Amino acid sequence: MKILLAIDDSKFSEAATNAILTFAKPKETEVRAIHVVEPPAPPIGAQDWGQIPIYVEILKEERARANDVVRRTAETLRAAGFNASFTVADGSPKTEILQEASNWRADLIVVGSHGRRGLDKFLLGSVSEAVARHARCSVLIVRLPAN
Ligand code: AMP
Repeated sequence: MKILLAIDDSKFSEAATNAILTFAKPKETEVRAIHVVEPPAPPIGAQDWGQIPIYVEILKEERARANDVVRRTAETLRAAGFNASFTVADGSPKTEILQEASNWRADLIVVGSHGRRGLDKFLLGSVSEAVARHARCSVLIVRLPAN
């Protein structure tokens, strides 16, 4: 069983990690943690992002932070006996999670959920919903109990 675990450094993806630790069998499960770095929106008229030092710096820091997050998650999973790897991608989280699942031939994608509704969901979108709708494999959306 290959599980792709999408992590966004929130308590929601921590719940997704905990679900794997609780329900999956370490000896029969390979887990890959992924975090997708979303590039900031380009300034109007910008041609080449690579030429803008502040942008390059922000992206570098974001990638380093993302790498820390997925590395720590993989370490937690390894300590529990799982065969765990990690990866960082650039782009749209929905697209990159689906792409990695397809390339790596995941059997299951596990995501958290911020549980946004109404205007918040309309404005910010929902990664978990998009992944569940478009994935070619099964998807587990882990929710935290509502307060
Ligand atoms: P939602 O609340 O529906 O937008 O889904 C949130 C969940 O989507 C998070 O708990 C993660 O599992 C996943 N997710 C959101 N953003 C990212 C990201 N940048 N990289 C990886 N996974 C993400």
